[in-house]
Amino acid sequence: MPASKEHTLGEFDLIRRFFASETDADGVVQGIGDDCAILLPPPGQLLATSVDTLVSEVHFPANADPADLANRALRVNLSDLAACAAQPLWFTLALTLPEPDTVWLEGFSRGLREAAQKFGIALVGGDTTRGPLCITIQVTGAAERPLTRAGAQPGDLVYVTGELGAGAAALPLVLSGDAGASHWVQARNAFYYPQPQLEAAALIAPFASAALDVSDGLLADLGHICEQSGVGAEVHAEKVPVAELAAQTLDHDAALAMAVSGGDDYQLCFTVPAQSRSELERLVSAGVLEATEIGRVIEGNAVRMLKSGAEWQPPATGYTHF
Ligand code: ADP
Ligand code: MG
Repeated sequence: MPASKEHTLGEFDLIRRFFASETDADGVVQGIGDDCAILLPPPGQLLATSVDTLVSEVHFPANADPADLANRALRVNLSDLAACAAQPLWFTLALTLPEPDTVWLEGFSRGLREAAQKFGIALVGGDTTRGPLCITIQVTGAAERPLTRAGAQPGDLVYVTGELGAGAAALPLVLSGDAGASHWVQARNAFYYPQPQLEAAALIAPFASAALDVSDGLLADLGHICEQSGVGAEVHAEKVPVAELAAQTLDHDAALAMAVSGGDDYQLCFTVPAQSRSELERLVSAGVLEATEIGRVIEGNAVRMLKSGAEWQPPATGYTHF
């Protein structure tokens, strides 16, 4: 038996050793160690909560680095908070492990602590069970004015933060597990360390009409805004900002297809009433917000993609999420 595998490590020891820590986080009346976490919401704010599960060999390769996994698990959840313009407060972790491998747990808990600290969110409870590796995180945040997918109106402008296509371009590289491959570092960063757009969300929250995070691909996700808002949208493909990783590893058309229909970018797609355009542009030119206008909201119920002025159907990206 490898020295790293301590089969004697009990559930309570494991929790105490890797996950329990004194927390002075805001609103935590009772953290890890009791039947429930007891929490005090910020006065006058609404709570936003979301949960996501990562299953080994379904959402990530079983041999993935544990600190990388912890980062992805927490960051994709934080992206859901950003999509609602909620600021992170607390999270819980349900961890299913084949065995209590202390080396794996050390890496995972370190990655989780670092990410939690970076984004200002406190671990307040969880559950630990034995079984096939599976990571579930539930996050809770607070928002003064939460954004939803509903609220876009014809005439609004459509924006995305950052650049798109890196998540999808990273996937085959990440799956190869080949740390020697060119662009490995960029791919690993894009897949395991997506940046939840919490600051951008806070900046646009006062005036955006609808928002979500791009996890399924821009076309599909903007389609969700259209459906929930009862509108259509028109997007100019050549305005969509293409991530460097996609541009460097694919030909021009394939990179554009990744940006438009690939997923896993965790940027925000949001709509803004035309009268708020100058406010948004002020934030962009001040260098505090990276956002690009890519189209507008129209009457209807579907997303129309245009390229060089003509209707355009992006080719299938050729990669499906695993
Ligand atoms: P219960 O039997 O009431 O479900 P548990 O024995 O599962 O309690 O957990 C004991 C305490 O440790 C609880 O406060 C729980 O929230 C916390 N906990 C369990 N697993 C984890 C974990 N992986 N990360 C953080 N906290 C955990
Ligand atoms: Mg339990």
